[in-house]
Amino acid sequence: MAERVLTEVPEKLKLLIRYIMRGFYKIEEALIMDLLMHHPCIKEDDLIELIKFDRKQLRGYINTLKQEHFIKVRMRVETDGEGRATRHNYYYISYNVFINVVKYKLHNMRRKIENDERQSTHRASFICPGCRKQYTDLDVGQLMTVTGQLTCYYCQSEVEEEMSETPKSSQQSLMVRFNHQMEPIYKLLQELDGINLAPEILEPQPKEMKSSRSVPSPMHLLSVLLSLSCQSDIYADFCNFVYGPFNYVIINFRSRSSR
Ligand SMILES: [Zn+2]
Repeated sequence: MAERVLTEVPEKLKLLIRYIMRGFYKIEEALIMDLLMHHPCIKEDDLIELIKFDRKQLRGYINTLKQEHFIKVRMRVETDGEGRATRHNYYYISYNVFINVVKYKLHNMRRKIENDERQSTHRASFICPGCRKQYTDLDVGQLMTVTGQLTCYYCQSEVEEEMSETPKSSQQSLMVRFNHQMEPIYKLLQELDGINLAPEILEPQPKEMKSSRSVPSPMHLLSVLLSLSCQSDIYADFCNFVYGPFNYVIINFRSRSSR
């Protein structure tokens, strides 16, 4: 049976977006995504009004979000009061793509951890019983004699192999930490699997905020900030790793939110 068409963005999808933005991106980018969830296909001018960044600043963050394929832009030519035609950008979240990008990035992160783990498991190190000099497997070519023995470069004793334990166990715990910290994200992805979003959500039409009454107050922004800051501890380990485009650090936000 086909999934029914959803005409509203499910809360779980919004939560996934908050988790990801909160965990891996700058607070400013997280805020923009949050505003785009509240105001689908918002005009750039309105977004500036809400978020109080200057245009150049805003476009910098918007560019990052566009490069990540999280948002799309719609350009509309509008005529102002004096009859001049001006171009206006409208931004909206590309929900389907967002889910796929997250899946893809998680997959890459996991693969990288697995590869590192495999390499470190197989990485032998050597120690010279004579002078205690240590070598890695990268030195093997240098140590190999014509008879195939591995001898110390300095004292010519035959070196002994020892399997390094430390990197192996730390890699394993890295995988454990990854699985643990990403669990809420994997769970949400699983629950969102196969969702069918209505075309009006995927390709919303430009909407201008007409009256100033519809402009959220600063209290709204404050509540957004608070909702972001309550999900604090996950990803703590991973924000410091550079895994492809997920390399944005959380430090920026943490230092602010701890005040
Ligand atoms: Zn030696």
